[in-house]
Amino acid sequence: MSRSAHPAGPRHADVLTEGHYAAPPADLNVLDEKVWARTVSRNDDGAVTVGGIEVTRLAEEFGTPAYFLDESDFRARCRAWADAFGPGADVFYAGKAFLSRAVVRWLKEEGLNLDVCSGGELTTALDAGMPAERIAFHGNNKTVAEIEWAVQVGVGRIVLDSFQEIVRVSHIAQRLGKRQRVQIRVTVGVEAHTHEFIATAHEDQKFGIALAGGQAAEAVRRALRLDGIELIGIHSHIGSQIFDMAGFEVSARRVVQLLAEVRDEHGVELPEIDLGGGLGIAYTSDDDPRDPHEIAKALGDIVTRECEAAGLATPRISVEPGRAIVGPTAFTLYEVGTIKHLEGLRTYVSVDGGMSDNIRTALYDAEYSVALVSRRSDAEPMLVRVVGKHCESGDIVVKDAFLPSDLAPGDLIAVPATGAYCRSMASNYNHALRPPVVAVRDGEARVIVRRETEEDLLRLDVG
Ligand SMILES: *Cc1c(COP(=O)(O)O)cnc(C)c1O
Repeated sequence: MSRSAHPAGPRHADVLTEGHYAAPPADLNVLDEKVWARTVSRNDDGAVTVGGIEVTRLAEEFGTPAYFLDESDFRARCRAWADAFGPGADVFYAGKAFLSRAVVRWLKEEGLNLDVCSGGELTTALDAGMPAERIAFHGNNKTVAEIEWAVQVGVGRIVLDSFQEIVRVSHIAQRLGKRQRVQIRVTVGVEAHTHEFIATAHEDQKFGIALAGGQAAEAVRRALRLDGIELIGIHSHIGSQIFDMAGFEVSARRVVQLLAEVRDEHGVELPEIDLGGGLGIAYTSDDDPRDPHEIAKALGDIVTRECEAAGLATPRISVEPGRAIVGPTAFTLYEVGTIKHLEGLRTYVSVDGGMSDNIRTALYDAEYSVALVSRRSDAEPMLVRVVGKHCESGDIVVKDAFLPSDLAPGDLIAVPATGAYCRSMASNYNHALRPPVVAVRDGEARVIVRRETEEDLLRLDVG
């Protein structure tokens, strides 16, 4: 086996245990459209472009690391979700995946609603002109100040997460002379088949009120008695990065069962159910995400069928995709720094960012792909681990991936599908300056969240 550039490169057999990494892709220059934003392609000179602009030019203008977000892809995904669910249902974009004022305006223009889960997200939403009635407010521990503000501005719904909050929101609304529309978040006992820390519908967790043991039924009983709130429905969110509709099926069935119990006990048919978010995206070529139309049809069929069986009118459905809208629309662009070949072990490729701009690999053991984007290369593939520049050995961006063996410091590499939960979870660890988000569309690039500066850091440090 000849290796042109690095004779000390890794022997794949030494480090490979997982099947899907055993063989490198046939051609490393080919970008799998499943994992890259829609307008990303490689031009004849070999450089990758997004929205018609070469990444080399973007790096010169905006620096690295940086997130580049394909605005037309984002808008297209919003429209696909809105079309798929139609006028009889509501799509709420989960702002925690990534929120900025530009994003809020796009959502507003494309007809989506917005989930927020903190005062900061609510500020951003309102500042960018999202009508309050199109906002849902979530969270397991909303502060009194946050609740007061949400009620005051008239958010469309507050999703109640505990017995205490049912009373708290009702009292606050009454004090403000309002009646707040609310849903109750229940945990349905379904465990989404993802990493333990991102599965949220099993009962041993901080979110929601359990259906088990009649707790959710008791929550409904209490909510219906209070004057400050109007109970409009039941909410369930079963996890994240889910591909299998079976979890939603169980969740919908159990929520509809609760609606039937509520009707039997109180003579009330709650008009809405919210099935949450959690739909998976392709981080690597191994992932096969579902199309929003397929998801809408599956969820609609399940709810209709269960309601017919229970003799209930079909409630209005809402869903809350975050990752599935923004995740695939962005990539992180890094410059390659040190490359270390550990004989017989592994090759480490260091980039100028890391866990401060993408914590998901360290936090969830998430998988990502990576490609050389500043040029073509026909050099042999080498298996690498892409790591950041932070003082932490868990500072891994991409655990295992193939890059060309002639990779050198100064090359640009990009990690696709970083639109969700990367900038929004970014930190200043090691006093890193959080990277900018640059929206690219039709040959134009525009900063929507600027890069932090040393001044920003020092401004918070008041000496
Ligand atoms: C996180 C969250 C979502 C969005 O999850 P995605 O995996 O980004 O689709 C939706 N609803 C609730 C209540 C959430 O907590």
